[in-house]
Amino acid sequence: MLSEFDLIAHYFTRPPRHADRVPLGVGDDCALLAPAAGMQLAISSDMLVEGRHFFPEADPRLLGHKCLAVNLSDLAAMGARPLAFTLALALPEARSEWLAPFSEGMLALADAHGCELIGGDTTKGPLNICITVFGEVAPGAALRRDAAVAGDEIWVSGSLGDARLALAGYRHEIPLDDATLGEAATRMHAPVPRVALGLALGGIAHAAIDVSDGLAGDLGHILERSKVGAVLNVDALPAGSMLRKQPQELRRRFALAGGDDYELCFTAPRARHEQVLAAGAAAGVAVTCIGRVDAQPGLRLEDTSGAPVSLQLSSFDHFASP
Ligand code: ADP
Ligand code: MG
Repeated sequence: MLSEFDLIAHYFTRPPRHADRVPLGVGDDCALLAPAAGMQLAISSDMLVEGRHFFPEADPRLLGHKCLAVNLSDLAAMGARPLAFTLALALPEARSEWLAPFSEGMLALADAHGCELIGGDTTKGPLNICITVFGEVAPGAALRRDAAVAGDEIWVSGSLGDARLALAGYRHEIPLDDATLGEAATRMHAPVPRVALGLALGGIAHAAIDVSDGLAGDLGHILERSKVGAVLNVDALPAGSMLRKQPQELRRRFALAGGDDYELCFTAPRARHEQVLAAGAAAGVAVTCIGRVDAQPGLRLEDTSGAPVSLQLSSFDHFASP
């Protein structure tokens, strides 16, 4: 069995890759971080708990990827550039068969974004993974939830609902063939944080949020904080490639209130429509205009013909009664 210090040295300590930004990494009482002159730090934490956010038998490599991906997604939603992260880890036992693929999955994604692991804490206990990410953003450039304005268009990146479809398959809520479940499950296990898009939207978008608990609920946070309302065209929602083949009611419900999508939902002035499309193209991700912000409070759903659509939706809430 590895000791706590062997484990940290072996799986979570590497020579600093960006000494300019990280003058001191893992191994001291604190790490030292040096954001570029004049930049603000963007900071966010996300915790993943076994049995709540992932299945006990989850593949450790994918889990390593996902726990960092969901944190990078928060930086993306702020338009911030990733700098570094810390990892607080409770583990039932120190097994290299688990630790090696977990750290490889996590550090591969870290390297893809130039985001350095600078420290953390390691303790014995039920599996629990808490990451804090640090990013940088120019003053005034952050994509805040309170910045949507009546008249803005509402956009979403990529596609929605396939992760929720996979969950429905695992839970036997609906029958799914193995190929469909396998494809949809990739969206659940290996989300792609839209970091490049978040950066490209700086100076173009007004407000942004990452879609983790379902589009309707997460957009609702923007509307509430910005004191505006919105109309969404449910037929314009980009359903995931597997969800697209499902019946209309399910398609709409999972696209609107699925969760675990890790796409960006953002608003931008209508006059910047072409710039938003160009930002998506530059970032290599589809962006779809799905509605508009207005002054009437609340979120209203319409179909393409403009007829109102009513759907029973529930956004994910850990403390809601079942
Ligand atoms: P302390 O006693 O000051 O809390 P620790 O013994 O917990 O320090 O950690 C020693 C060093 O290893 C610190 O620099 C800490 O940031 C780092 N560290 C601990 N756990 C992890 C981890 N899971 N990933 C990365 N760095 C870690
Ligand atoms: Mg410690």
